[in-house]
Amino acid sequence: MQQTDYIIELAGHKKEDLSVCLGCRICASVCTVNDLEINANPQELLMNLFLGLNVDKDDPLVRFCTNCYRCTSACPWQIRIPDIVRGLRENLSTGSVFEHAIIESINIWGRMYEPYVFLRASLFVLKDGWARHMFRMMEYVINIVRSIHVPHKVKRI
Ligand code: SF4
Ligand code: SF4
Repeated sequence: MQQTDYIIELAGHKKEDLSVCLGCRICASVCTVNDLEINANPQELLMNLFLGLNVDKDDPLVRFCTNCYRCTSACPWQIRIPDIVRGLRENLSTGSVFEHAIIESINIWGRMYEPYVFLRASLFVLKDGWARHMFRMMEYVINIVRSIHVPHKVKRI
């Protein structure tokens, strides 16, 4: 089965669902990853899949999509792009830096602890040579640190 067909099926879409995309790029304008100035464009990803072009592990959305669904909320057709990204990751046997960070956070804290996730993801981003995006990412970290609270263990009764 072609990569496109496999992913669309896995995401619960039909290929025709992608044909309704207007190419308006509202999804790109609200995308969290695009906001970090990383060259991520959900509309381009959909178009490539619709045209049957293969998307590889280095695509910025495959690597960094946070599954925030901001693109879906803003899309006039509510196209579930994160579902498609998850299908791609499954197809390519890979995960995002945020998923790795979230899993680590759950292993340590027993839940997703946002400051840890962002700091850990920052290290992945640095290691992967995305240092030029760090200043933008730090704005997110500072906003999170401002609302920081210390996690505590819940007493078992
Ligand atoms: S779910 Fe992924 S593609 Fe959509 S806005 Fe969030 S980071 Fe961007
Ligand atoms: S917002 Fe929706 S319709 Fe517009 S380009 Fe993105 S996926 Fe296509």
